[in-house]
Amino acid sequence: MPEPKALSAPQKALLKLGLGRDIDLALHLPLRYEDETRIVKLRDAREGDIAQIEATVTACEIVYRPRRQLMVTVDDGSDTCVLRFFSFYPSQQKALAVGSRLRLRGELKGGFLGWQMVHPTYKAAGGELPAALTPVYSTVATLPQVYLRKAVLGALARADLSDTFPPGVGETLRARVWGLREALAFLHQPAPDVPLAALEDRSHPAWQRLKAEELLAQQLSQLESKRERAALRSPALAASPRGLHERLLAALPFQLTLSQRRVGEEIARDLARTVPMHRLLQGDVGSGKTVVAALAAAIAIDAGWQCALMAPTEILAEQHFRKLIGWLEPLLSPLGLRVAWLTGSQKKKERVEMLSLVASGEAALVVGTHAVIQDQVQFRRLGLVIIDEQHRFGVAQRLALRSKANSAPGAENVPAPTPALPRAGEGDSLFEPHLLMMSATPIPRTLAMSYYADLDVSTIDELPPGRTPVVTKLIADSRRDEVTQRIRAQVAAGRQVYWVCPLIEESEALDLTNATATHEALSAALPGVMVGLLHSRMPPAEKRAVMALFTSGQMGVLVSTTVIEVGVDVANASLMVIEHAERFGLSQLHQLRGRVGRGAAASACVLLYSAGDAGRLGETARARLKAMAETADGFEIARRDLDIRGPGEFLGARQSGAPLLRFADLATDTPLLEWARNLAPLMLDRYPELARRHTTRWLGGKSQYLKA
Ligand code: ADP
Ligand code: MG
Repeated sequence: MPEPKALSAPQKALLKLGLGRDIDLALHLPLRYEDETRIVKLRDAREGDIAQIEATVTACEIVYRPRRQLMVTVDDGSDTCVLRFFSFYPSQQKALAVGSRLRLRGELKGGFLGWQMVHPTYKAAGGELPAALTPVYSTVATLPQVYLRKAVLGALARADLSDTFPPGVGETLRARVWGLREALAFLHQPAPDVPLAALEDRSHPAWQRLKAEELLAQQLSQLESKRERAALRSPALAASPRGLHERLLAALPFQLTLSQRRVGEEIARDLARTVPMHRLLQGDVGSGKTVVAALAAAIAIDAGWQCALMAPTEILAEQHFRKLIGWLEPLLSPLGLRVAWLTGSQKKKERVEMLSLVASGEAALVVGTHAVIQDQVQFRRLGLVIIDEQHRFGVAQRLALRSKANSAPGAENVPAPTPALPRAGEGDSLFEPHLLMMSATPIPRTLAMSYYADLDVSTIDELPPGRTPVVTKLIADSRRDEVTQRIRAQVAAGRQVYWVCPLIEESEALDLTNATATHEALSAALPGVMVGLLHSRMPPAEKRAVMALFTSGQMGVLVSTTVIEVGVDVANASLMVIEHAERFGLSQLHQLRGRVGRGAAASACVLLYSAGDAGRLGETARARLKAMAETADGFEIARRDLDIRGPGEFLGARQSGAPLLRFADLATDTPLLEWARNLAPLMLDRYPELARRHTTRWLGGKSQYLKA
């Protein structure tokens, strides 16, 4: 075996960028191109052109107005151009001395004094011109463009780029389908006569081929995981007549909406099957998902199985499930069944106690954060897992959950969907639990078809009757005093108010200072009103105490950071103030706004925006906030959010670094997405070997992430 050689800096950088395999390099497409194939005359150039010229230096001097700079004048025989360098070395001054002939490249700007270039690149004139457009790749400082270009070309020659599309697929794609090799060669080294515009807008057939490839890989991998799951067995949980489910329905203080009944039936149908459910229940904030979850839990428990409920944070778990527990507990205790809590902050003794309740099966309902799915937790008969606010769990957590459901021990981050292994000596644990996820952020259709393609979706599309619409107002931060007046009036009328401060990502400390300052200012401005503060760093017991004061109505105003994500259900709250609203995502704003308007009182949401240094809010920021004021429909808002922020943030993948679609754009490539979606099942059935080669080529070891 040869000595392992130390890697050079560029080699390390390649690995770090995920460009280890030849195929990865071949698929690392240029960000843009530079045309160095020809020399233009200044006379023929247009404003804003990135131009390459050859010219002679006629003047070179250091000037001090408006600031110190090297000013060089060149003449190419057709016109003159001024070059400006704001930082320069003596050696550069020498290279740019009067009389030098240079090949220059830069952006041409035409001031009234004539052509100018700021910091153009330059070298001696003459020399050969390249035959193809020059690709510019995304890279890092330790990996120079020139090195990367060579590496890509080498890899392109070596990589196996044989076609993996099944024969005949071209016909369904309408346009002539380019081969993969042909497409890649073209994109890495486009001929000089190709208009740059055709390359940059990704409509070119070469791009189409790559997008089709990528989308097909995603669909294949999702379909594979769906089929793997379908091969697993789950307990058939059927609702029995006069069972818990019926009793819970009878005990509810309200009638289910039509939507709730419909999704409830969809879920019940899934639960009754021996194939694991993998369903997302989506419904706008306040649409009443909790009761649907409670009914599902009742079915599972009635059938003799345990149900686990999870929310992303302790406080959310407590808030979201308090109602549910309140409904179920009175029905469980006569049966000798209990509710167990599992959270990260629990004392050891309490935790041990809870774990034994879970292991014995006495706890029919297990509630908590993702502590619920940690390895030490042994269920006796876990039949159903319900995750609330699933979009707030990171991709990695979702994967861990899936692996828990599959119960492969220690498989934290590598959840190969294996058949379940036996646990705790129980035959029943050979079963895979059913999985129900809930989200108030509706998944736009294109995402549902792509990233979430292996999921069944149920949608609640109406709100319970009797809600008053929330009026949304945009108010500049400079008018804070008026907002305080408004708060005073609301509290005087016996209502309650939320004030949410933004999360400042870079600094939790700053975040806190901000919330603390607001809390102090409001306390001072509202004598006689109890103003509470809730932030991420408070111990859970303290958080609970503050929440209790607010829910009981004693506290008039609650200031909080979003880390808490006010998930409370206080019907008496009628005003929601969101500070620095411009820093929130639309879906986040929508969820926060959904915390008011839960009772009969007329409610409002004030979006306070900070105009910023320039004295005005940026164009997009304004558009986003206006969208909030204009629509109350969570689906519409989610769609706009996707348009504005792209799927990365939508999926919460930013933190996890999960690879997303690189080439395809869900907004414009829906036809290709549909094509891939139709082809995937056919390909898995008829050409399994091609399918396998295709996913390996595209996803390598990362395929798990694309289906998380
Ligand atoms: P979300 O979908 O946001 O989780 P919740 O489940 O918290 O919404 O429900 C919001 C509020 O509406 C709760 O107070 C809940 O008890 C109530 N609710 C749910 N369903 C109905 C219904 N069909 N009629 C009246 N109120 C309902
Ligand atoms: Mg909820």
